[in-house]
Amino acid sequence: MTPRRSGGLLAAALATVLWGCASPPPATLGPSEASIAAHVAAATRAAGSDLGEVLTLCKPVPTARPVQDEAADRGLRALIARPAPPPGRAFDNLYFVGGDWASAWAIDTPEGIILIDALNNQVEATALIEGGMRKLGLDPARIRYIVVSHGHGDHYGGAPYLAQKYGARVVMSDIDWTMMETRLEFATPIWGAPPKRDISVKDGDKLTLGGTSLTLYVTPGHTWGTLSPVFDVTWQGKKHRVLLWGGTGFNFGADIPRMESYGRSTQRMAQVVRAEGIDVMLSNHSRVDGSQGKLARLREAGGTGPNPFVVGEPTVERTLTVMNECSLAQRDRFALLR
Ligand SMILES: [Zn+2]
Repeated sequence: MTPRRSGGLLAAALATVLWGCASPPPATLGPSEASIAAHVAAATRAAGSDLGEVLTLCKPVPTARPVQDEAADRGLRALIARPAPPPGRAFDNLYFVGGDWASAWAIDTPEGIILIDALNNQVEATALIEGGMRKLGLDPARIRYIVVSHGHGDHYGGAPYLAQKYGARVVMSDIDWTMMETRLEFATPIWGAPPKRDISVKDGDKLTLGGTSLTLYVTPGHTWGTLSPVFDVTWQGKKHRVLLWGGTGFNFGADIPRMESYGRSTQRMAQVVRAEGIDVMLSNHSRVDGSQGKLARLREAGGTGPNPFVVGEPTVERTLTVMNECSLAQRDRFALLR
């Protein structure tokens, strides 16, 4: 028996101990078609029948970062031109004031409003954020902070206008402020220039206003400085805890370290979800969290009854598992290209 074969036997024995089967799962063998299939299968299992939209993250993605050209701008304009859904109240103190493609969320407090994301540009900020707030009985002049989840224009585009008009402070991660100042990932005249550096936060910093406190986690992946706020809401007086995932898509090309950082962010936030009993997960694109359908159900129910945004902690964890497994599948796809 050669040392090599005995090593193989030892590995098989260890595998039996660790996994209770004669051979380790394909994912442990390094990147391969089998490891990709195993990650996609794990994501599919976690997605169940209710997280199909999140599971689309497992579809193969382009290996090159998108470039700004006329075709890209046409596509962006088409996304922005889609008819906007009505604004709506998701919780006692949380309001949706977004478009069909990108979302903006307003947290109301006795001392003012924290806005999370500012949509694509001034036109949307005027029509959807200011207009939406007024329809919901909120005064946009009460916006104190604009938390921009990450340095892409579909989230910061309306921020300079709102900040200037209302004296609101713009909050971003230090990492994404620097990205916007030195090597803006995407630029197009549709979004205009990014906001100038204002409040700069690091992982775990808190933003508090009128008794509501947001813990701002830096969850690298979609950008290196994506912010994912965690905060309390109430529904009919009962407290729930929200994770707003700050950046979802894999639109950065075949960047393996970044894809791996995405996976680590999902795993780390799954620990936070368990520790804090987070039972609501929101996104800044309504396709991902199904917020338009959930708001429609709330409208039909006249704001009473169970809240469809409250999915429960196990489902929030499953969502992060789907994202993690899809990021691992994409990483292995990129690794096979090398
Ligand atoms: Zn983005």
